[in-house]
Amino acid sequence: MDFLQRLARSLDRPLFPWKRLILGFSIGQYLFETALTLRQYRVLQATSPPAVLAKEISQETFDKSQAYGRAKARFEMVSGLIAQLQNLAFIQLDVLPKLWAWTGDALLRLAPARFSGEISHSVVFVFAFIVLQQALSLPTRLYHTFVLEESFGFNKQTPRLFVADLLKTQALTAVFMPPILAAFLKIIQKTGSHFVFYLWIFTAALQMFITTAYPVFIQPLFNKLSPLEAGELKTNVEALAAAHKFPLKELFVIDGSKRSAHSNAYFYGLPWKKHIVIYDTLIEKTETQEIIAILAHELGHWKLGHTTRLFGISQVHLLYIFSLFSIFINNASLYAAFGFTHTRPIIIGFLLFSDALSPMDSVIKLLLNILSRRFEFEADEFAKRLGFRAELAASLIKIHAQNLSTMDADWVYASYHFSHPHLSERLKALDWKPREALTSSEKDKDKDGAAVKATGRDEL
Ligand SMILES: [Zn+2]
Repeated sequence: MDFLQRLARSLDRPLFPWKRLILGFSIGQYLFETALTLRQYRVLQATSPPAVLAKEISQETFDKSQAYGRAKARFEMVSGLIAQLQNLAFIQLDVLPKLWAWTGDALLRLAPARFSGEISHSVVFVFAFIVLQQALSLPTRLYHTFVLEESFGFNKQTPRLFVADLLKTQALTAVFMPPILAAFLKIIQKTGSHFVFYLWIFTAALQMFITTAYPVFIQPLFNKLSPLEAGELKTNVEALAAAHKFPLKELFVIDGSKRSAHSNAYFYGLPWKKHIVIYDTLIEKTETQEIIAILAHELGHWKLGHTTRLFGISQVHLLYIFSLFSIFINNASLYAAFGFTHTRPIIIGFLLFSDALSPMDSVIKLLLNILSRRFEFEADEFAKRLGFRAELAASLIKIHAQNLSTMDADWVYASYHFSHPHLSERLKALDWKPREALTSSEKDKDKDGAAVKATGRDEL
């Protein structure tokens, strides 16, 4: 702690150009990521699939997946530029101190005096900040869903569902953000220089709570989970779980097709009580044995301790963030550089600190992705050893074709961005020998527009 305090003092220099430094980080990161995207763009211009896929993927599917990849890359660059300009404007126009002052005035005028403390002020400020961010990002999100995804036949969301989701998310923020933020600030206020430890305990408890409460209270607001019907699939999955002593409590089917956000299959829950969730789109598009191969891969993650290790790493990561934050929390020069000369609200300190930390975040993202890709290979290997080599390969090919996922990648881009190895790498690792081309009926499935889409939690 002594070292941290000395470091804190040495970083707090009056007139240190924090603003320029953070702006520099932000622009540097954008340029770096754009350079990577341009490298990837070249790979996405290739006209024939990698050798290992030559007989598996039709030319038409490959062309479409390349076009989809290029459209996504262009979107990434433009939306990144917009976010960059917005960030720049926020800093130049002193949006943070203005919003802080404005929410403070509003609170004073509209709320009883007992709500005038830093905690109430921070809650109102964060809410206003989130609403502002959401409003500014709305055009990009609309474009992504209703133009980009729509034009490749992936979007199943109606404007009505989009708005409903948006309102539900805001309502959830209004319910959950105030108590969590209040507790976060209260802990720092009460425990002083020891806040790192207490904050860490609090977040660990919060994670446990969310893991338990999310599927019960929050997920049903967006999706319907129903128990998997008795049948070949259920019997087989239960047998697989039992054979490996997986603490399977319940098997669910989720209506992913409602939005098209297709996540294959995943499991969740506390270490002693797990639930497996399978997407309806996966059941519809894949043979039973292939789904079981996917679940064997998932089981591999659990059996090989990946889940536990990632949880451990996330705890160390949190400790690291909080320890560093303790260095910056009283850094008067950082606050002053951003227009906070008279007050030093904790939440503002945390926002500024997160920006100052962004180059380190990129390094951590890279390291975590390297680890995650290794885990994916290990889980594939696990499924292969259980005898699912061919089924896993077949399901991977099928899902990638339906999702129009990137089939090949620039290695620098992939190292930085991909949490999963790309298809060609995985097939090579599975020792997959090209077989006959997909049958015409399977190709037709791709064409009818009922394609499934992997976004966000792609756990395969
Ligand atoms: Zn996996």
